[in-house]
Amino acid sequence: MYLSKESYKKIIGDLRDGLYIVDLDRKIVFWNHAAERISGYSAEEVVGKPCADNILCHVDDVGLNLCCSECPLASTIEEGLPHDAAVFLHHKNGHRIPVSVRVIPLTDDSGTVIGGVEMFSDSSHQAVNELRLQELEKLALLDGLTQLANRRYLDRELESRLEELNRYDIPFGILFMDIDDFKGVNDRYGHETGDRVLQFVAGTLSANSRPFDLYGRWGGEEFVGIIRNVTAANLKHLGQRLRRLVEKSFVLVEGEALRVTISIGATMAVENDTVQTLLSRADALMYQSKAAGKNRLTIG
Ligand code: GH3
Ligand code: MG
Ligand code: MG
Repeated sequence: MYLSKESYKKIIGDLRDGLYIVDLDRKIVFWNHAAERISGYSAEEVVGKPCADNILCHVDDVGLNLCCSECPLASTIEEGLPHDAAVFLHHKNGHRIPVSVRVIPLTDDSGTVIGGVEMFSDSSHQAVNELRLQELEKLALLDGLTQLANRRYLDRELESRLEELNRYDIPFGILFMDIDDFKGVNDRYGHETGDRVLQFVAGTLSANSRPFDLYGRWGGEEFVGIIRNVTAANLKHLGQRLRRLVEKSFVLVEGEALRVTISIGATMAVENDTVQTLLSRADALMYQSKAAGKNRLTIG
């Protein structure tokens, strides 16, 4: 069987994983359909641009920006060797998505490296999340702006989790999160941009949630995460990771990156807690984070 260049191109174009090709200057020369779907950027928007140009802006698990220092594509091109990495990419809408990345060198017929290929697959539990969203929508338990669970649903879930804790000793913790200086964002950029910020913060939370955890919008710019089957140490680790991912999320407003940070109060549910006592403890811890300078997590 003979496959033409066009056939190869079509196959690569239709892969389920994102795939793009860069030249030696890391300028993007090809961008497939899955890359469009996962990142939100169309081929038209990115082909011809350097990939370090405010597009995917990979960060690692501790929030380190990889584009300038440890770009997997750059080292592959330099060393001529493949690399695997787990990174978080920037979606056009602002949120951070966990992806696993494989980069391979691109060589010409003589074996000279002429660029690099990056393949990436979405490792969020988006499919599970989407099913859950349909359920929530049906029950009118969804927050319309952010597509997260609304306050009513959070309330209900907290009741069930507390019952589970008291009956079967299944531990859980909560993260109470509040965007820092959000009023300033509205004042400076307008309410509509404020809404986009709420959406990308929510997107980062849900794209990085485990299938059995739940994130919802408690009200205004406050979010609550219900984290099941954790120890206090895990809860803290998870909260810090989200805090850093939000810190590294942004939307472009008139060409400038608009970012926000969140302050978090984290606490494990204890026997005899009510929804009220649990939330007010988390809220008070969140305020300690604010008082200590914001963009931090306090656990108690
Ligand atoms: P702090 O760091 O202490 O949390 O300061 P802050 O400015 O975030 O806190 P404050 O509670 O003073 O402001 C919250 C702002 O959130 C005020 C309100 O206008 C805005 N807000 C609440 N709900 C929405 C919404 O749905 N969309 C938009 N754009 N803004 C909202
Ligand atoms: Mg608030
Ligand atoms: Mg706030």
